[in-house]
Amino acid sequence: MCNLHRHFVIFPPFYPLILSMKNTFSVLSKFIGWTFMIALLTFLSQTGGAILFVFLIIRSFLSKDISKPKRMLRNWSIFFALYAGFNFLILPSIAERSGKVPLPVFSENLRPHRLAYAFLNRHYVTKNMRNEIMNAADAMSKKYPGTVTYYLDGSHPIGTPRLYPHIKHKSGRKLDVCFFYKKKNGGDEVEKNPSILGYGYFAPVRKGERDLPAECAERGSWWYGFTGWFVFDFTGQDLEIDADKNRYFLETLTQKKAVRRIFIEPHLKERFGMQGNEKIRFHGCWAVRHDDHLHMEVN
Ligand SMILES: [Zn+2]
Repeated sequence: MCNLHRHFVIFPPFYPLILSMKNTFSVLSKFIGWTFMIALLTFLSQTGGAILFVFLIIRSFLSKDISKPKRMLRNWSIFFALYAGFNFLILPSIAERSGKVPLPVFSENLRPHRLAYAFLNRHYVTKNMRNEIMNAADAMSKKYPGTVTYYLDGSHPIGTPRLYPHIKHKSGRKLDVCFFYKKKNGGDEVEKNPSILGYGYFAPVRKGERDLPAECAERGSWWYGFTGWFVFDFTGQDLEIDADKNRYFLETLTQKKAVRRIFIEPHLKERFGMQGNEKIRFHGCWAVRHDDHLHMEVN
């Protein structure tokens, strides 16, 4: 069979045209790639896109006369130095003008579920929120020694932009916090739920409890349980929600005047025996399931 590629010959006068088309395509694809990366980093971390843009300008002045591995190492080092230097040393003082502060990252009692929450600047909250969650985490470790409280999304540091995919996390007065879990049948304490993002490790409805996830699905909220798709639990840990710990945590929070309300699923409110607590509410079918984490709001 005739091999078309082997017999295909480009007419020599077209060489410059083909070469310039190849160069244009290469430049265009690089431009689209970097624009996408800048947009993605801005979307995820607010400042990351601008830092990448500055890095690309700096990179254009650097020598290309070194081997590719050395060049990659140099470029990545510069980008990470810029990213970490700006976000961890300079950004907190800029965020303060928006009334926001970062939550602790390596403290004993309160930490992000994944370091990525801090690395992507999603752990900024108001001072009021920081005080309340730090005090509640301290109370937890006092009552249950060794217990760490893990937080999820707070808000972005500058201004009040939307923190996707959330609708409400803008001002820093809202924070998502992981529930506390224990091993099924064993009762041993576990450090944290095995979900990659921290979201989606549900505490399913038991017999006799009100089943809002099913009711919401019936009402057409197809997205209500979508966080469950992102659990990726490769540890095989079979955990259940620790009612005692969560009840104590919720009581500690709701006793505080500054804590306005907390969203959890009604079946957990029932299971924790907190029906009379008016600060603990159902969020509605327009949101997502809250039997994997709690959403708290402060004044
Ligand atoms: Zn939330």
